[in-house]
Amino acid sequence: MVNLPYIKLRRKVELHAHLNGSLSTESIKELGKKLYGANTTAMESICKRLVDVDSLDHCFSKFPLMHELTSTKRGLQLATELVIRDFAKDNVIYLELRTTPKRNAAMSKMDYMVCVLETIIESMKTEKILVRLLPSIDRAADVAEAMDTVNLVLELLPKYDNIITGIDFSGNPKVGKFEYFMPALTKARQHHLKLAIHCGEIDNPSEIDQMIQFGMDRCGHGTFLSETQLQELGSKKIPIECCLTSNVKCRTVNGYEDHHFKHIFNSKVAPVILCTDDCGVFDTTLSKEFALAQQIYNLTNDDLDYLLMMGLENAFLENRDRIYLLKEISPPNYGI
Ligand code: 5GP
Repeated sequence: MVNLPYIKLRRKVELHAHLNGSLSTESIKELGKKLYGANTTAMESICKRLVDVDSLDHCFSKFPLMHELTSTKRGLQLATELVIRDFAKDNVIYLELRTTPKRNAAMSKMDYMVCVLETIIESMKTEKILVRLLPSIDRAADVAEAMDTVNLVLELLPKYDNIITGIDFSGNPKVGKFEYFMPALTKARQHHLKLAIHCGEIDNPSEIDQMIQFGMDRCGHGTFLSETQLQELGSKKIPIECCLTSNVKCRTVNGYEDHHFKHIFNSKVAPVILCTDDCGVFDTTLSKEFALAQQIYNLTNDDLDYLLMMGLENAFLENRDRIYLLKEISPPNYGI
């Protein structure tokens, strides 16, 4: 039975959310209105085109729609505010956002990052939510961009080390080779940044092996991990960030029933976390993802609470913040 009210009311943790993909259609319309005035016809058309994803390639063709809207400081600031507000409305109390620093006519990569970071800081003053940022390395971009991003993050760390907690490795998995990005990721790790790596999103066993050998703090998607690879991650307590609707809509899994979440959760072979990936593109929320999991895999409310705790346990957080959130998130009977 879908139990949306229970999970909607629970305070939640979101660990895998790409900023530009998390703009809901409602927020896109609001953003359009604020940026371009009352005429929202263009926005309606963007929204219609946004949510009809039916393959991984199709999904990646959607991001330029949002990138256009966030190509100015004002657009980026408003979008960041709206995304944080939407997560807060869904009772997400801890959010790890990811975004790829971009340069364009209006902004340098530094401008982009500072705009997102300062907006996060401001939003935390008005919304009841703690937000952290993982700058993303896009595997579909030039390798030099990756090192550039890591150097930029290192430059920003003295001022923003309470907000930037790690690096995300993402982008179209059919493009680029992981090994090319290892020097940039190694440098990030040497500076104590946590690594969230999109791994096994498509069937590429040798790259998955390479990624596991290289090491990561969390594994994004993990759709095509073999049982041995899963066990290896499990033995190191590396959690898999599962994004149900994202994988179903991108057709990297055959359907919800066949989603690898079911096996990982039931077998406990590795820690597992439920995440949204791109709420806007996949037309979902974290509450909906939990409710779907409850309905499809027959989870109890205790199972949902366990999944929330898994999220908190694997958040890239200082222990002091984790303890604060534990008190906020714990169900009434948890004994805290
Ligand atoms: P942004 O970094 O622009 O804030 O968020 C959108 C970007 O996140 C996309 O252009 C892509 O690089 C990355 N991204 C979003 N969703 C996915 C996903 O499901 N898989 C992978 N590998 N990358 C994604």
